Amino acid sequence: MSGILWMDPVFKEMIWGGSKLKEVYGYNIPSDKTGECWALSAHKNGDCVISEGEFVGKKLSELWNDHRELFGNLEGDQFPLLVKIIDANNDLSVQVHPDDEYAKEHENSLGKEECWYVLGADEGTKMVMGHHAKTKEELVEAIENDNYDSLLNAFPVKEGDFFTIPTGTIHAICSGSLIYEAQQSSDITYRVYDYHRVDDKGNERELHVRQSIDVTNVPYVSTAGDDLKAESIENGTKTHMTTTKYFQVDKYDLTGVTTVKNDMPFMMVSVVSGEGTLEGKAVKAGSHCIVCADKKEFVLDGTMTVMVCTI
Ligand code: ZN
Repeated sequence: MSGILWMDPVFKEMIWGGSKLKEVYGYNIPSDKTGECWALSAHKNGDCVISEGEFVGKKLSELWNDHRELFGNLEGDQFPLLVKIIDANNDLSVQVHPDDEYAKEHENSLGKEECWYVLGADEGTKMVMGHHAKTKEELVEAIENDNYDSLLNAFPVKEGDFFTIPTGTIHAICSGSLIYEAQQSSDITYRVYDYHRVDDKGNERELHVRQSIDVTNVPYVSTAGDDLKAESIENGTKTHMTTTKYFQVDKYDLTGVTTVKNDMPFMMVSVVSGEGTLEGKAVKAGSHCIVCADKKEFVLDGTMTVMVCTI
């Protein structure tokens, strides 16, 4: 068994994308409208290819199907999680994601719960999370009247902010944000509003208003929790960011050597700032890997911030 899987990211050009994925992380992006780096993904719409070692050239989904022992013989039809970096040079659509039950019935997919860690935010950058409608009728009325300014709950964000976005929560990442996202492995987004933007052929993107109304939780209940508390570890701190039914995320801020124990089926490891080594291999902001079930610990060394996502 390989212990650690390194893979090539998959990039997605988007109407709202930019060039920060190259400027900040040095990725070889397809254009200056690149919105997403699917860094660790086995989803059919962006299945990462292993870039070195025993399984070089294989897709992550193939390893999930043929070498389930790498992932602790976890059950399930598909690798459950996906890690992205998002560069919002422009506003993303106002959107909502279905839960497992709705997604299974209507899309034959997993639902999409997600969480965000803000890697960078331009001055004045906002985020949309939730809405002010008290009933479904109020929600429908606001949507029908394009009354989004008063419907949506928007607020400023800054680097270091963290959000968990349960399914059924209307949300939007806004212009000027650079985001680490960990989510269920799903590509189901219901767009409720897209600012009436058009592509270079003059077409607006498809909306999914009926589905959005179906799945949006009313009223919105904020999931903003207690302040996150960092615990001291060897040469740094560890902050537990979230635990949901689908994933948990920890953040390590390091200034030296530290050993991370792995008692999970796998750990998705993302260096989001700084540089150093992981098990002796040079890593820097933008490096990602999956630590497999048989690798019971791994050593990080450097001055860096590392996100670790697992089930
Ligand atoms: Zn989303």
